[in-house]
Amino acid sequence: MTSKFLQLEKAEYAKLVEQLKKENERLNAFNFIDETEKDGKIISVKDNICVKGMPATASSRILHGYVPGFNATVVDRLEKSGFSVVGKTNMDEFGFGSFGLNSEHPAKNPFDEDYVAGGSSSGSAVATAVMKNHVSIAESTGGSISAPAAFCGVVGLTPTYGVMSRYGLIDYASSLDKIGFIGKSADNIRDVMEKTVGGDEKDTTSLSKHISNENPRRLYVVDNLMDGVDEGVKDRFEELLSKLSSMGYTVEHISIEYLEYSVPAYYILSMSEASTNLAKYQGFKYGFKVKDFSLNYNDFFMSARKQFGKEAKRRVILGTFIRSKSIKQKYYEKSLALRRSIIDKMKKILENGFIITPTMPIFTPKINEVSDINPVEAYSMDMLTVPPNLCGFPHMSFPYFYEKGMPLGAQVITDHFNDYSLLDFLSEWEKDFKYRFKKEVG
Ligand code: GLN
Repeated sequence: MTSKFLQLEKAEYAKLVEQLKKENERLNAFNFIDETEKDGKIISVKDNICVKGMPATASSRILHGYVPGFNATVVDRLEKSGFSVVGKTNMDEFGFGSFGLNSEHPAKNPFDEDYVAGGSSSGSAVATAVMKNHVSIAESTGGSISAPAAFCGVVGLTPTYGVMSRYGLIDYASSLDKIGFIGKSADNIRDVMEKTVGGDEKDTTSLSKHISNENPRRLYVVDNLMDGVDEGVKDRFEELLSKLSSMGYTVEHISIEYLEYSVPAYYILSMSEASTNLAKYQGFKYGFKVKDFSLNYNDFFMSARKQFGKEAKRRVILGTFIRSKSIKQKYYEKSLALRRSIIDKMKKILENGFIITPTMPIFTPKINEVSDINPVEAYSMDMLTVPPNLCGFPHMSFPYFYEKGMPLGAQVITDHFNDYSLLDFLSEWEKDFKYRFKKEVG
């Protein structure tokens, strides 16, 4: 393995900061760039992961002014291995979104600023595209690593649920949140993952498990997932499958019952959990501090919680509704059962090979094409990234084609704890594939 990071001496750091500040005026990749002189291998961190002494806002106004006094475990482990954090990357507020537009200052696509960067880890994908040999620490609940990676022409790896410590992560939906990586080389991502993976006493939900790399060289295409995919994307995907066949993969078409219900099940579960996780931002201990104690009960809490953006409010309201006693059986419990059934069905397939899909059902859209689509349309764009996220399966989006100068990504999914097979797949893919970046700084 030959990992190669942007490694800077203290004297060179200020120059990188200048370059990034300039790029940031155009692309909004960062919510915060650390100007304190430092050296080491340069990484960036999504703004919902705590880095000691740097603001952590998760792109939410309710967290303005919050500066954690501690590192998330992933950050701690990387700093101990000679990595330095250059800044905190932009995102959809609390991770709510697929295009990066649910942020006060949305990130833009590095290939063309009229296009979306994808979300919710928008800034991590943009930062990775514009910096030499970069890896950004990101997070996915339902596709937030894959989507921006695909739209920005970089690689996004979402590990098995539980293998990465989430200590220091600002939570969205705890049964789904996973810290992962956006990068542009298999070796770099592997290096960073090896240094951060594994159980942590500060996160009792984290696991220490052997991570394998079994690759039976078989690819399954799930036909009933492909229904809503754009025809042009389907054509490119067919070409990808032929290429992979010529690399020695057997391609098989299958269908997996109920998989098309993953999106509603995911949104029901994720909103339910988000509405409880967000309950802590009420103006006392966490979040925006309300200073006027003369306010009555409703006005006091409202003045804190009105800081939430539109999508966050929608999810708190819907999530609270879904959990209410009279209907929770109908939606919440049904979604849990459906998730269990989909896990079992997918697992049977993944024991024998990868599942492969386009990452997103559409080509990278322009900002004005998606800025006012309705929420249900927006949620349906996650139809391909939600199934592995709902079930905690490791998955990776990788670039494979450029259409009119814009990148296109595909997603491979593997069985739990077989994460390294995805990076082996990528190493093989990289032998023939040339990433194209417009401009790289550092
Ligand atoms: N688009 C999905 C959502 O809005 C996924 C976001 C994520 O993975 N954080 O919930």
